[in-house]
Amino acid sequence: MCGIVGYVGGREATPFLIEGLRRLEYRGYDSAGLAVVAPKQIQICRSVGRIENLATRVGSDVFEGTVGLGHTRWATHGPPTEVNAHPHVGGDGEVVLVHNGVIENFVRLKGDLQEKGYVFKSATDSEVIAHLIAEGLKQFSTTDAKEPHAPYVAAVKWALAQLKGTYGLAILFRDQPDILIAARFGSPLVVGVGRGEYFLGSDSSPLAGHTDQIVYLADHQLAVLTRTGFTVQHRDSGIISPNIETVEL
Ligand code: GLU
Repeated sequence: MCGIVGYVGGREATPFLIEGLRRLEYRGYDSAGLAVVAPKQIQICRSVGRIENLATRVGSDVFEGTVGLGHTRWATHGPPTEVNAHPHVGGDGEVVLVHNGVIENFVRLKGDLQEKGYVFKSATDSEVIAHLIAEGLKQFSTTDAKEPHAPYVAAVKWALAQLKGTYGLAILFRDQPDILIAARFGSPLVVGVGRGEYFLGSDSSPLAGHTDQIVYLADHQLAVLTRTGFTVQHRDSGIISPNIETVEL
């Protein structure tokens, strides 16, 4: 068990991400990382060991941005090193994600992606998902201004359909900096609904004090979060009506 946090809204993301990861420390972890969307790039920081190490590193850099994600890792594939810590990057940096869980068919997927020219930097199973989504983006690109998020959602769904195993995922896109996509199969994720801001957590503890409006994602569901709203979708079909629960945190 380890953790994921995410933020989309009008405030700086980093303080929420660091505090949220601290609240998930009880789940156990060996390394941690975060990513924040800045204009035209996604800034990433990773560190082995305690969240304090990550906080110290982030504190000495400029991590400004209102969309971001964070992760605590419990290594299953590859040792607990900085290069294996999440977030992982897909393609040429167009996809950045964190993953909790295990991808059982990652060896075959990795081989296929390497044949297509994707270069892997880590020993994790998770990096496969990042490159797979980058590959999906090539197939679902569109210029429809009314549906700017559609290709990103389609690419994620396309990638998820190829995975065997478990995942809780939070995904950012360099070229669509206003969205965060979360997806769940076998690894818990909750969405916190605020006013003009949305939160993500492996459980509700990072959300306490921010919102008491919670959506528990079910297996095969995705959440697409932007500052102006969110949708919940089924991986194999379309948008579904989310069940927002008021929870005493
Ligand atoms: N299997 C992934 C890894 O080893 C994710 C582990 C986790 O759930 O933190 O990096």
